[in-house]
Amino acid sequence: MATIIDGKALAAKCKEEIRQQVSALQRRPGLAVILVGSDPASRVYVTNKEKDCAQCGIYSEEFALPAEVGQRALLELIDELNRREEIDGILVQLPLPRGYDYDEQEVLLSIDPRKDVDAFHPFNVGQIMIGNYTFLPCTPAGVMRMLDEYGINPKGKHCVVVGRSNIVGKPQAMLLLHRHATVTICHSRTQDLGTITRQADILVSAVGKRNLITADMVKEGAVVIDVAMNRDESGKLCGDVDFGPVSAKASYITPVPGGCGPMTRVMLLYNTLAAARLHGKS
Ligand code: NAP
Repeated sequence: MATIIDGKALAAKCKEEIRQQVSALQRRPGLAVILVGSDPASRVYVTNKEKDCAQCGIYSEEFALPAEVGQRALLELIDELNRREEIDGILVQLPLPRGYDYDEQEVLLSIDPRKDVDAFHPFNVGQIMIGNYTFLPCTPAGVMRMLDEYGINPKGKHCVVVGRSNIVGKPQAMLLLHRHATVTICHSRTQDLGTITRQADILVSAVGKRNLITADMVKEGAVVIDVAMNRDESGKLCGDVDFGPVSAKASYITPVPGGCGPMTRVMLLYNTLAAARLHGKS
């Protein structure tokens, strides 16, 4: 039976570490969170981020804009925040509302890369590629921190990442590669997914399809990391992995909820702390 990787407990430990580091700074780090529109899930994410900041002594300021505010006003706000000294990090909650003329790429490009705590700006994406990062991609970095905490070293291991999005799959593969894993990336056009996932010593699934990863697709003793957040028919949060049968076969496994989610949140705080240090707050 697999050891459950407790992301919730580790996140609490990380928050305490961040709180102590923040309290040692002479000036508080500051995070601006921009929410456009009224998507309920985005609202929850933003509220949680603000709660996390408060718990760790990070100043946060929320900018809730109506969906119809438009691209130009959004860019003007970002420009102002780029110039405000007490703001170290700027986060635009994605996705931007559909049905309006928002250009997400232009928005991400307009954030000062030195304040880009989500690490979505192409400059920081490039830094991740070459392994010279100030800001870590939050979800993949949370995964790496969990592996480290449980003494799981990716070096020389075959890691299979299912999903190739810019925010999870690709940066996850990069971080594993930087740690000397042999990495295979799978996606929706991958043929015979199970043949590949069965080769994984460490399997990371970041797709968004409930029960995509079944026990027959997992090697005995593999480490299984479930990044996804789906809902089952009763509305309960679940991942990509068929948890019960897979945990009987794996050596380590992350639960959903309580695995990658809390760790993603905590990595944003580390990035905000890193931004504050970058701006000379010590
Ligand atoms: P995304 O942009 O929709 O990407 C999904 C990826 O899965 C794509 O690369 C897609 O392939 C691939 N895919 C789709 N169907 C597949 C299949 N049958 N077999 C293999 N690959 C398949 O999603 P995302 O933003 O990366 O997020 C992935 C999941 O993680 C979602 O459930 C999301 O809610 C969750 N998530 C969780 C956290 C957290 O904090 N825990 C953070 C971010 C995301 P193509 O590229 O070919 O389309």
